[in-house]
Amino acid sequence: MSLISEILDHNVRFVQNREYESYRTDQFPNKKLLVITCMDTRLVELLPRAMNLRNGDVKMIKVAGAVITHPFGSVMRSILIAVHQLHVQEIAVVGHHDCGMINFHCKALLDQAVQSGVSQDVIDTLNNAGIDLERWLTGFEKVEEGVRGSVKLIRNHPLMRPGIPIHGLVINPETGKLNLIRDGYETTK
Ligand SMILES: [Zn+2]
Repeated sequence: MSLISEILDHNVRFVQNREYESYRTDQFPNKKLLVITCMDTRLVELLPRAMNLRNGDVKMIKVAGAVITHPFGSVMRSILIAVHQLHVQEIAVVGHHDCGMINFHCKALLDQAVQSGVSQDVIDTLNNAGIDLERWLTGFEKVEEGVRGSVKLIRNHPLMRPGIPIHGLVINPETGKLNLIRDGYETTK
């Protein structure tokens, strides 16, 4: 059975058994918090449990490394919608130790892409067209650096609501232990 068939089979039972009932909520976050974190598989359940977040508590955005790559891209757009229209009053950027974006380099990804069948000509064409793949497909040396970069980008965004606390945290993907590396309340006083 294919993965999607398994998912759909499960889904039929889930709905029939009304298992959704304990997840009912609305689109506004109860804790008025937005969490931006990494797509790492270890955080799928661990992070919400470790932060005591239940369905309905937060808006959550997941991107590789919890890094916002562009001030006018889809992540920042989502943040602005959450802040201005969905009652978000605090933001937490949560990076994690042992992140795949630590020392992640564009070249390694592009080499892999070519091995997988993407033509080198395509990559050359993109580079020649002025698309800065090197800058776009890059990681960070330390997770704290990535978190601070995202916090700074959000804080300095011209459309961000002034005074909103933006926290920076790092989570251990094994134990769920959180370290606060930037207290958003400190800079909003
Ligand atoms: Zn990660």
